[in-house]
Amino acid sequence: MKKILLIGTGGTIASEATDSGLAPALTTRELLGLVPVAAARCDITALQLFSLDSTNITPVHWQGIVRTIRENYGDYDGFVITHGTDTLAYTAAALSYMIQLSPKPVVLTGAQKPINFDSTDSKVNLTDAIDCAARGGPGVYIVFDHKMILGTRAKKTRSKSFSAFSSINFPELGVVRDGTIVRFITGDTAESPEFYEELDTRVSLLKLVPGMDRAALDFLFERNDAVVVESFGVGGVPEAGGFYDSIEEWKSRGKLAVLTTQVENEGSDLAVYRVGYRLKKDLGVLEAYDMTTEAVLAKLMWALGLSRDPAEVRRLFYTPVAMDMYPFG
Ligand code: ASP
Repeated sequence: MKKILLIGTGGTIASEATDSGLAPALTTRELLGLVPVAAARCDITALQLFSLDSTNITPVHWQGIVRTIRENYGDYDGFVITHGTDTLAYTAAALSYMIQLSPKPVVLTGAQKPINFDSTDSKVNLTDAIDCAARGGPGVYIVFDHKMILGTRAKKTRSKSFSAFSSINFPELGVVRDGTIVRFITGDTAESPEFYEELDTRVSLLKLVPGMDRAALDFLFERNDAVVVESFGVGGVPEAGGFYDSIEEWKSRGKLAVLTTQVENEGSDLAVYRVGYRLKKDLGVLEAYDMTTEAVLAKLMWALGLSRDPAEVRRLFYTPVAMDMYPFG
């Protein structure tokens, strides 16, 4: 019988109604008790790591999850993390950089409706996640609404429907239903995983809006080591407003700018338009290409946690990890 470690962190799946809205209440053991058939298929240990709405999750919690998995890695065949859906894609991305090449499944799941509601996706998601942790194959991925979605490619794209997550610029890894798993894609693994706990959390994100000027960018550069700019279309910044000067000035002070796009699908290509070309060719900014914003932020935290040398950070950023970006030229 496969040994699974079920790590509870809160979220809707474990929530109950209170006078002031839904809040996490059920323990991980109680959750497991509500899916007896799946629980009986494996030898599962339930661990309550914390009990939070995922809006309250921070990189410190990611580090706690990674530490727990690292300390228990040898004793289990797979891991399930139950988590709120709101920041699940961020945690999935972070774990993808912090636990690389895992030969064992590290499966994240959650739900749009609490497990004790009449209509709920909790039981099916938890059951599918347990099945994947036992037999779904290696890597860090989300199991949700019968889909297996790579941790580096996941995004919450629906705030209410059961089909809350999409795989961005990459196919789903597989499907799981009623105990049957069909896995289409498997990434690289090693005999044992590479664990990274160090993160530089001084990474921030600016979403451009028409008419914005450099003030917001300066504010973020002052307080962070890297700023991701979510720009328009294939990428660029307005020619008015001082953005180029801001990026150049902060670069000379060791700060890193990364350009991505607000468009969910198909990614950036900075060299196409003059508004982006200069950033790439003259100012040396990095660009996200087909990566999700969640993955870009997590990858920068991981890369800057490893090195402060701009050339090395650039190399790490442009080296594909867990199929997070399409290899380019
Ligand atoms: N607010 C909840 C959370 O992210 C939403 C959910 O779990 O679906 O914790």
